[in-house]
Amino acid sequence: MTTTYEPSTTQPGTRIVIVGGVAGGMSAAARARRLDEHAEIVVLEQGAFVSFANCGLPYHLSGEIARRDALLLHTPESLAASLNLDVRTGHRVTDIDTKAQKVTIEAEDGAYLMPYDALLLSPGAVAVRPPIEGLDNPRVHALRTVPDVDALRERVGELLASRSRGDQPPTAVVIGAGFIGLEAVEALSSRGLKVHLVELADHVLPPLDTELAPLLADELAAHGVDLRLGVSAQAVAPAEGSDDGTSSDAVTVTLSDGSALAADLVIVNVGVRPASALARDAGLELGPTGAIRVDGDQHTSDPSIWAVGDAVEVTQAITGVRVPVPLAGPANRQGRRAADSMCGRRTTPQAPVLGTAIVRVFGLTAATTGANQATLRKAGIEHEVVHIHPGDHAGYYPGSETVHLVASFAPDGTLLGAQGVGRAGVDKRIDVLAVAIRAGMGADDLAELELAYAPPYGSAKDPVNMLGFVAQNVLDGTMPQWQAQDLDEAMAATLVLDVRSRSEFAKGHLPGALNVPHLELRARMDEVATSAQGRRVSVYCASGVRSYLATRVLLSEGFEARNLSGGWLTLKAVHPDL
Ligand SMILES: Cc1cc2nc3c(=O)[nH]c(=O)nc-3n(C[C@H](O)[C@H](O)[C@H](O)COP(=O)(O)OP(=O)(O)OC[C@H]3O[C@@H](n4cnc5c(N)ncnc54)[C@H](O)[C@@H]3O)c2cc1C
Repeated sequence: MTTTYEPSTTQPGTRIVIVGGVAGGMSAAARARRLDEHAEIVVLEQGAFVSFANCGLPYHLSGEIARRDALLLHTPESLAASLNLDVRTGHRVTDIDTKAQKVTIEAEDGAYLMPYDALLLSPGAVAVRPPIEGLDNPRVHALRTVPDVDALRERVGELLASRSRGDQPPTAVVIGAGFIGLEAVEALSSRGLKVHLVELADHVLPPLDTELAPLLADELAAHGVDLRLGVSAQAVAPAEGSDDGTSSDAVTVTLSDGSALAADLVIVNVGVRPASALARDAGLELGPTGAIRVDGDQHTSDPSIWAVGDAVEVTQAITGVRVPVPLAGPANRQGRRAADSMCGRRTTPQAPVLGTAIVRVFGLTAATTGANQATLRKAGIEHEVVHIHPGDHAGYYPGSETVHLVASFAPDGTLLGAQGVGRAGVDKRIDVLAVAIRAGMGADDLAELELAYAPPYGSAKDPVNMLGFVAQNVLDGTMPQWQAQDLDEAMAATLVLDVRSRSEFAKGHLPGALNVPHLELRARMDEVATSAQGRRVSVYCASGVRSYLATRVLLSEGFEARNLSGGWLTLKAVHPDL
């Protein structure tokens, strides 16, 4: 489709004022300039930096991004030179007079008013401050801004410099095992600190489905991280023996289970909430989550004010619920869209947001797109879950790594959400699945997707195809399945059949399970019938593949059989005590 746009659509002398000069705000400013050479564009940023790479901060802490300058993508000077933007750092907007169309700005040399024709709010989010006593202790850090990472690097540098040969490593406590918390853990560990990670939820990375999270927990443990799940930090206090909070070298973090952790530094990262106070005080409509309500063009309830980024509500794909989704991709795209709208262009209204996200945890990658199982359950959306553990590329080519994938499908086959964890190939599978959800694809479409393949890269049946095949089999009844969560019922009311080899069985199995290696199944059918005594047969193997073959044999012999989704690998993740 070809569309011809007018070159410039704002009135001569139009002033666009933008609050917040990082992801959404700066995307909007740059796009507005590209669309309109004559508008006056003023960017007001309360901090000392604009256009900085906040997503890169953890990697500067680790030292992987060695130069601080690399995080500072632009300066007010470079933006004036390249885009003719008037960028004012250290300028905080404290009030919006929507009737007079003026903002009040506080700067070092006093407060002043600035009229606007179009106002864009991209103030981001504010860190949630958990109810922990002693959070103002100087050993407690955040990881949100350039000054935050400067302070952290300085502290880590001091700790490492003052360490003598043979000393124990310095110790950090990270509170909150979300995306940024995990990045902080990895960064501090890679600098040589001993890290304790405290998380209130019962698994790390709470947006991840329960059955994938233990893989991350194992990886953290393998790198020496001490994981405290299901507990909250309650207090941070100067360590015993230190004089006071400001001069102490260490603190003690007390947890809700009564334990205490000594720490040379603490990072708190328990989530964010929309920075919507300015909008609220100006009378703009907010949603129940406190985020600014906007339409598909990023318009707020005031016709001259637009809003984008972490501060706004978006429509969550799959559930249709309106929530803030604090991610850089949506913020940047919204900024571009808002500029189009401010400049009078036709926009592509925002698509529902999938919340596609990814994080590296040492050697593992975890990624998610669409709705997770908890969200689907909460929204009452009927779904079938499939688990697979294929290789990231052909098994016969060296270096193949397992990709653990979980995906949820509606009864009509529509893909609702997917998650993956593994050492290789997770990012591309989740990105393909994100596109599939956006396109409204289902199991049949995944089965037919044509993806790039040569042995070092994938398999002729890519893991994405495999998800489609398995989901087709489940949904059309070819392969009835049971889930790890059905374990009690399976053990109480069915014959549990373990079709792994004898040696695998000997290393651990479900109590009472009958072991018939899948290659012996046809010859031992009578034994299975005798043991089943007319009951259903719940089959399992290591990953769900051999048990699928066995299930098909049993079904064709007239048994009521079903296959454990994801096999022993998934079962152990859900029931670690087995
Ligand atoms: C450490 C870290 C790592 C991250 N990593 C990722 C990642 O890997 N992937 C991902 O998708 N997302 C990541 N994010 C989230 C992503 O950075 C945000 O979603 C995105 O920056 C939001 O853009 P925004 O424009 O809404 O807010 P921001 O980019 O935060 O910008 C808001 C700016 O507005 C300024 N401001 C606020 N109020 C006022 C006011 N009244 N007057 C003037 N200025 C004001 C603030 O100082 C701030 O600089 C990360 C965030 C952090 C902190």
